[in-house]
Amino acid sequence: MTIEPRTLRAAREGLRAKRFSSLELTRHILQRISQVNPRLNAYLTVNEEEALQQAAAADAALARGEESPVLGVPIAIKDVLSTRNLRTTAGSRILESYVPAWDATCVARLRTAGAVFVGKTNTDEFAMGSSTENSGYGVTHNPWDLARVPGGSSGGSAAAVAAGLCCAALGTDTGGSVRQPAALCGITGIKNTYGRVSRYGLIAYGSSLDSVGVLARDAHDIALLEGVISGHDPHDSTSVREPVQDYEHNLTGDLHGLRVGVPREYFLEGMQAAVGQAVQQAIEQLHHMGAIISEISLPSTQVALPVYYLIATAEASANLARFDGVRYGLRVPGADLVDTYRRTRGAGFGSEVKRRIMLGTYALSAGYYDAYYIRAQKVRTLIKQEFERAFAEVDVIATPTSPTTAFRIGERVDDPIQMYLADVFTLPCNLAGICGISVPCGFDAAGLPIGLQLLGRAFDEATVLRVADAYQRQTDWLTREPGIS
Ligand code: GLN
Repeated sequence: MTIEPRTLRAAREGLRAKRFSSLELTRHILQRISQVNPRLNAYLTVNEEEALQQAAAADAALARGEESPVLGVPIAIKDVLSTRNLRTTAGSRILESYVPAWDATCVARLRTAGAVFVGKTNTDEFAMGSSTENSGYGVTHNPWDLARVPGGSSGGSAAAVAAGLCCAALGTDTGGSVRQPAALCGITGIKNTYGRVSRYGLIAYGSSLDSVGVLARDAHDIALLEGVISGHDPHDSTSVREPVQDYEHNLTGDLHGLRVGVPREYFLEGMQAAVGQAVQQAIEQLHHMGAIISEISLPSTQVALPVYYLIATAEASANLARFDGVRYGLRVPGADLVDTYRRTRGAGFGSEVKRRIMLGTYALSAGYYDAYYIRAQKVRTLIKQEFERAFAEVDVIATPTSPTTAFRIGERVDDPIQMYLADVFTLPCNLAGICGISVPCGFDAAGLPIGLQLLGRAFDEATVLRVADAYQRQTDWLTREPGIS
């Protein structure tokens, strides 16, 4: 018997056709994790015991003829998403021993649909970063080149999917944390429209920017998972009642008449040449497939980065106040309450988290609030309006996902601005609250993957998935495997 499902669909078909059981598939994945994870550090917690129980239950359900896109399929979960009775660290030492009493809604929906949770994946601390180097538990290595970062903050999920250590994974995207690691690891990743997937149980970073997303090998697999996790949730007042589109049914492969906008501001001078070339070729390919390409302009792109880092840090400084040594996780007792707060937070938070709390607190302080925070919110509205105007003329916007391929571990740690630039193409999408996907579209001379980003209108995940899937049917970038697998 061979078990080598590279996609969620192949796993599901194998299970249905009884070529292998969920127990066999899960054991196979767990074994791969024990072999490969020591080199990657993609998983912070392997959920072996529960995964085997879930697999056995899934086999029983399959035998009864039950159906679901994820029934019996091994899935990984980014460690900022709460999992009932399973340690959830958010990549922070302050939550090293935190075990939630409930599931995040997206996790609960997968659980109800019979998914097998193989483990929790590494992340930059509280999802603050672009490389997973800010994790309190060590960096994750890129399966294509172990000396390089996998991107971040969902670097653990991206590396796990790329190396075949799960069939798909959940991630979160506040400024690019699903799309950028997907690009750097040669897989596919979607950032959902704000309000599309419940944030309940997602440990908050920037509440007006955070969104749950999916990382998988291809857009078709993502379409299947999206159908399970999307939709209104009474626990999250920002989740929207908008009906969930039938994503899989909509994967027609047809791009005739599709209008694709290419913003000139997304092709920077300093960008890696191979990235620009691969993305241009991908856009050519969309044209060959019947799409109408036009150049558009999104002039506010250049201010998106400072706007993002004001709003994200302001929200983070408020959200992270709850980690005080009283309510959750680590507690370092001090002389009095304030001293306990100080010691706990001093010991529990890493330096990037502290930097952001300071930046955010400053931006929100009396006297600076109007000059920084309010101003940033106003510019954010302009960015959103700019996208709305663009989407009156085009159906999707095509750009590079990241200006470079995977960079070397350590290369940017002492230069926060360089690190922040890793997300210059992804974070406008979060400020506007729209959706976007990254799909593999080539390799650089060093054999490192390149990502094409497709941005779509709010609540139009169906279109970005259709375009991504159509492109993936016509190209064979996914047939290359990283060395580690
Ligand atoms: N790299 C960006 C940041 O550090 C985005 C991270 C994310 O999307 N969670 O804030």
